[in-house]
Amino acid sequence: MSSFEEVFGTAPEGSWRAPGRVNLIGEHTDYNDGLVLPIALPNRILITASKRDDGRIAVASTGHAGVIEFAIDELAPGSVGDWAAYPAGAAWILRESGYAIGGANLLVDSDLPSGAGLSSSAALLCATSVALLGLRDLEVDPAEVARLAQKAENQYVGAPVGLMDQMASMCCTAGHALYFDIRAMSTDQIPFDPAADDLALLVVDVKAPHRHVDGEYAARRRSCEEAAAALGVPALRSIAYDDLDDALARLTDDVVRRRVRHVVTEIRRVEEAVELMRAGRLRDVGPLFTASHVSLREDFEITVPELDVAVDSALEAGALGARMTGGGFGGCIIALTEASAADAVLSAIEKAFAEKGFTAPSSLSAAPSAGASRVS
Ligand code: ADP
Ligand code: MG
Repeated sequence: MSSFEEVFGTAPEGSWRAPGRVNLIGEHTDYNDGLVLPIALPNRILITASKRDDGRIAVASTGHAGVIEFAIDELAPGSVGDWAAYPAGAAWILRESGYAIGGANLLVDSDLPSGAGLSSSAALLCATSVALLGLRDLEVDPAEVARLAQKAENQYVGAPVGLMDQMASMCCTAGHALYFDIRAMSTDQIPFDPAADDLALLVVDVKAPHRHVDGEYAARRRSCEEAAAALGVPALRSIAYDDLDDALARLTDDVVRRRVRHVVTEIRRVEEAVELMRAGRLRDVGPLFTASHVSLREDFEITVPELDVAVDSALEAGALGARMTGGGFGGCIIALTEASAADAVLSAIEKAFAEKGFTAPSSLSAAPSAGASRVS
């Protein structure tokens, strides 16, 4: 790995980190004004930086060749492409929002898998934002940085993402999950520290090839919006769990009915998980994970064989609960296990993948970690 001095010929002035995230429960509820419950991962994007006085930003990444340079004044959506679109987008939205950032040299380093559904994109946007602000001693509320990073990903990079990933990267605290109510735009820190209870939370990247993810995502979103319109509510969040049967009876299309059932029951599961965590009953959260997976498989239909095999193998090997996490059609599963059973669960998944001829999965242990911060 090249050092900052080798790349830029100057000494760094500081470094800033922003973590990836994994959502514990509350899948495909965000665009339904629902509830999500992510944790920040120990894995993060780390940006080492120094100021420049020429209004230009130069970025390099240990994962990519070359140095990319651009003038802050000349940034417009799409003006910088490839991976540097993320740091350029962060600079663009800060400039647009009136923050007096200046030029900078930025070196990106990461131990966060990219493209695995653990939100390296949001981590890169948030890390760039806190580095550019930190270099100029500008203090901005973390939730505001998250909102700006989302705008950059939407408007500069062109990805129609929600706000969960950026909020997790900015606002999580160690030993907690972030309970984020999208309708209320409110957050709460929920105690969640598996290791303290002799538990482990495994994150397993199933390495499934991407299969029509964008089109399927858009189709699910459309079904939910059409169902909300048919039921006369602004979003499916407005359907209370107790009114679910009535709502389903008013829908004619079986597919739409199942989509609605997933969203409404999933929002209820988030509430139940939060209640259990507040009561310190972490082991009882496991069955909710599994119920979420079944709902995503049967009603929302966004799992693939790799996700189902990983979840089934984890459960057969004694996991307390397991589910796919993220948008679906690939990405990762999470499994809650006794700490003593973690190795056996991982081995069972690896063995099942080998037997099926799937690409070998990779895993990381997900200690709930702190959101973005200055490191040095
Ligand atoms: P995810 O957010 O699930 O990891 P995305 O496709 O949204 O997947 O974002 C991945 C993209 O983020 C990569 O294609 C790359 O452009 C950028 N990225 C992630 N990590 C790095 C890194 N270490 N250096 C440069 N770019 C990165
Ligand atoms: Mg992403």
